[in-house]
Amino acid sequence: MLSYPYLKRGKMSLDSKIKEQLNQYLTKIENPVVLDAYIDDQSSSNSMLDLLEELSGMSNKVSLNVHKDSDERTPSFNVNKPNEVSGIQFAGIPMGHEFTSLVLALLQVGGYPVKISDEQIEQIKNIKGQFNFETYISLSCHNCPDVVQALNVLSLLNPGISHCMIDGALFQNEINDKKIMSVPTIHLNGKEFGQGRMDLEEIINKIDITAFDKAAEKLSTMKPFDMLIVGGGPAGASAAVYAARKGIRTGLVAERFGGQVMDTLGIENFISVRATEGPKLVAALEEHVKEYDVDIINLQKAKKLSKKENSHYELELESGGRLQSKSIIIATGARWKELGVPGEKEFKGKGVAYCPHCDGPLFKGKNVAVVGGGNSGIEAAIDLAGIVGHVTVLEFAPELKADQVLVDRVKTLKNVDVLMNVQTNEIYGGDKVTHIKFIDRASKEEKQLDIEGIFIQIGLVPNTDWVNGMIELSKYGEIQINDHGATSLPGVFAAGDVTTVPYKQIIIAMGEGSKAALGAFDFLIRN
Ligand code: FAD
Repeated sequence: MLSYPYLKRGKMSLDSKIKEQLNQYLTKIENPVVLDAYIDDQSSSNSMLDLLEELSGMSNKVSLNVHKDSDERTPSFNVNKPNEVSGIQFAGIPMGHEFTSLVLALLQVGGYPVKISDEQIEQIKNIKGQFNFETYISLSCHNCPDVVQALNVLSLLNPGISHCMIDGALFQNEINDKKIMSVPTIHLNGKEFGQGRMDLEEIINKIDITAFDKAAEKLSTMKPFDMLIVGGGPAGASAAVYAARKGIRTGLVAERFGGQVMDTLGIENFISVRATEGPKLVAALEEHVKEYDVDIINLQKAKKLSKKENSHYELELESGGRLQSKSIIIATGARWKELGVPGEKEFKGKGVAYCPHCDGPLFKGKNVAVVGGGNSGIEAAIDLAGIVGHVTVLEFAPELKADQVLVDRVKTLKNVDVLMNVQTNEIYGGDKVTHIKFIDRASKEEKQLDIEGIFIQIGLVPNTDWVNGMIELSKYGEIQINDHGATSLPGVFAAGDVTTVPYKQIIIAMGEGSKAALGAFDFLIRN
């Protein structure tokens, strides 16, 4: 892929290295491409024109038409075929992370094949209806190009679908009117459709109302598995690799392949990889699992587990599909419990954090708050105290719930204050968190605390609702496992954050996943 281009100052122009790379890509354009540009007198229109003129000057297959006084957003441009609207539009100047989206659009409109399966191409072509998508992005957002590129592919393949990428920084009025606080935010026919990273498969499943039924029908005809893994996070992926390497029939069902890692920006504690990003690690996990003969059944949520007379387990999915297997590994992970106060959702990733091991270093030298005075909250405060400038712990109850040893330890730390009997009410900020407001429950006085980060440590919720009543759970709802990963049900094993295993981390989940797969294999050969 292309590295990010930078425009030189003055007249907009691509730097020579980028031009060299781009020249190679543009030779792959087979058919004529027309850039229809909509401009006004603003300087941003001139900058966009500079870029488009430069691009059209680099390939004799690319031409430029300039329109003034139109009803379109300005500056914006469509990437069309001659006399045929492709439905792909960019509002703003797609540089930064979006430059790749622009290059792909040029290539694909120009006849370069779209790299998805024939089955998916057919499915997209058959979607009926009118879908006008708009994606609000920022040029520094690393999750946005996936959404933009997926929606551009849909527009290219189906004349009923159109898509406009909108740079929020240039179209501030729209961002304010629509109260958009995070990117990417996707609108469909004027209404919010989704937020955050979404891939092509997820978007298709959301708009193709027949897809769910078709998938369910197909799944129910699948031959029983030897080992069926529920969950596609690090634990599930690792279990799948270990199972498949034993040469047994292996399946993996996931509501969303990648799990929590998909939402993690920086990972610096995955041993042997100094630093990586969540989506990168997920792509590597998927590639590794796909090296083996594993049926990956993505975007399907497990609803119920039951035992059949033939001693197989049956997994019922929310889509209505049913899968059978001789053994099961549950790796459905967990989600952070949210505080549920105004500002929490808006500032997630902009100062609101849930993982001190992971995100703590990003707050080096800064003042932060930790909400929650249980073991995880006090451990987080002790952990953060060594990195950040100052930590304030806010506990709702009149006393701390953490183990005494932790309480004693936190009291020795000079840069930690503990406030008890306080209720955190709201999180405030601009681009990032600036302060919170809380109430002193004894005096009823409202107070303000200036901070740059707030770690919410009121517990994790294991994703076990769908097996509740069937398998032994701890009082926190985690699946009880033994040292082989076995649960209270013979043939059903569990791994990772969904279980009683202490310390919820990627590397631990992977180890647990492999252990559960070996445990389940042992069960299979003995039965
Ligand atoms: P998960 O990652 O939670 O995966 C669960 C899987 O199960 C997903 O595929 C999900 O879609 C699927 N699933 C759930 N319910 C169902 C259902 N009913 N049917 C089908 N599928 C279902 N750890 C680190 O080591 N380093 C870090 O830097 C780090 N940073 C983090 C940052 C954030 C913001 C978060 C939230 C966590 C972070 N963690 C980090 C913790 C780490 O991500 C988890 O410990 C790890 O992902 C657990 O893996 P898992 O496979 O057990 O579960």
